[in-house]
Amino acid sequence: MELLVEDATFVTMAEPAGPAGPAEAMLVRDGRIAAIGPAAQVRAVADGAQVVRLDGATVIPGLIDAHCHVTDVGYLAAAADCSQPSAPGIEAIKARLADAAGRTPDGSWVTGGGYAEYKLRENRHPTRADLDQAVPGRPAVLYHTSLHACVLNTAALREAGFADGQPDPPGGAFGRDSEGRLDGVVYEAPMFALLARNLHRDLARMSDDTGSGLIGAAGRKLSSFGISSACDADLRRETFAAFAAADAAGHLRQRIYGLIVHDQADAVPRGRHSGRLATEAVKIWADGGMSSRTAAIHGSYPVPPYGSGILSFERDELTAMVRDFDARGFQVCIHAQGDRAIETVLDAYAAVLPAGGGNPRRHRIEHGGAMYPYLTERAAALGIVIASQPGFLSGLGDGFAAAFPDRHDELYAFASWQRAGITVAGSSDSPVITADPRIGIRDAILRRTGDGRVLGPDERLSARKALALYTTQAAIACHREDEIGSLEPGKLADFTVLDGNPLEIEPERIPGLGVLATVLDGTPVYQSGDIFPGG
Ligand SMILES: [Zn+2]
Repeated sequence: MELLVEDATFVTMAEPAGPAGPAEAMLVRDGRIAAIGPAAQVRAVADGAQVVRLDGATVIPGLIDAHCHVTDVGYLAAAADCSQPSAPGIEAIKARLADAAGRTPDGSWVTGGGYAEYKLRENRHPTRADLDQAVPGRPAVLYHTSLHACVLNTAALREAGFADGQPDPPGGAFGRDSEGRLDGVVYEAPMFALLARNLHRDLARMSDDTGSGLIGAAGRKLSSFGISSACDADLRRETFAAFAAADAAGHLRQRIYGLIVHDQADAVPRGRHSGRLATEAVKIWADGGMSSRTAAIHGSYPVPPYGSGILSFERDELTAMVRDFDARGFQVCIHAQGDRAIETVLDAYAAVLPAGGGNPRRHRIEHGGAMYPYLTERAAALGIVIASQPGFLSGLGDGFAAAFPDRHDELYAFASWQRAGITVAGSSDSPVITADPRIGIRDAILRRTGDGRVLGPDERLSARKALALYTTQAAIACHREDEIGSLEPGKLADFTVLDGNPLEIEPERIPGLGVLATVLDGTPVYQSGDIFPGG
């Protein structure tokens, strides 16, 4: 089938703009862009194509989320919404959990998510006692919005094997009350293990249909935001099976580039499995999160839980892992937020990458929150790619400002990174924050926190550079710049139709732009009306 798309503004993101002249029309043939350029030229080669007129809408390349957690988005979409401002205080959270208990099958934990203690009226974490009141007698868990902490009730603590008097586990910590008893809050490693265990237990209980349905639910949500490709930053054996089932059933609404969790590298097949499912990278965590104040930093945090954060691996151990995966042909993607963690990761990359420079596998740093100037210089010299999250600025920025009172203007320094020559890919880390890239694009331009302060005014990007994070730059981060990321002849026909031009309107209005359609391989996977045939 051929489609001639006309009467639209085309933001091609091609660099440099093609010699053909202004993009006024686009011809889609067999799922690829056959031509794009002046209307008369495109029409001349579009004999017999079905004409789609867009009434002046804007066509941009399909948006790419270079780091999110697709299965978690689907899984937590089903959990009780305990986010702020929707649940302003602990009483509201308790009511939501009690409500969720009624629809949670036996054997599964009652689950809520999305809270941030510093946004709660009480300005503290809910405790095991709060959760016991809401859900007595059966396990309940409440995940922090950062997904680097959670709260358990007494039944869940017991089932997880956590007891009073137990020392902090490696790579993590327990919250404790004034008598030293567990207060129910669990940080980092044991929390990841819990989420992974619960997710996989619940996934394993699901039929292929349900698992694939969960992927489908996440995919519907992402496509409604204009996202046509996503890196899943947490791929494991069970979630790969769910993606593969969804792919086989034709339910994948995004191209999925899986980052296989490092200890699952032998349990998940590697390669390009189809046009929509590939697994060519591994994921390693070097430290914790910024909003949970567990990112490994030099110095210490002036806010609870204090300390200097948590480093998952010593330098030599991390270097050995990177060397092994590099030798096996994997792209390595390492979560690193604090300056101490980023330093360790750069040491590991420097030890493994060729001495003459170059980073052929495009090894990445995920997040890079406190990548200060001396680290930026090193990362640029090594050719490291960064996948980061502009949307953290409005979602979590006030928490960053509290945790980094002296250096908050240097966090997520997108403009400095780009000036140093680093490829910076945009992403959401959803469900940590919304997956909506319109929020991320606005935040990359304005850098305004929820309370309205501007974090790092010198790090604000132009609208074009902000859009590039989610298109051309993210495509490079996935080794897919020959196929996606810009509207050019020969590339896949992945594009998003908006009801306004994000490069022209006031940045504040970008999140209000309507997504009219998200198109993959020339076929709509989402549309709000019926402008395209075959949706
Ligand atoms: Zn993540």
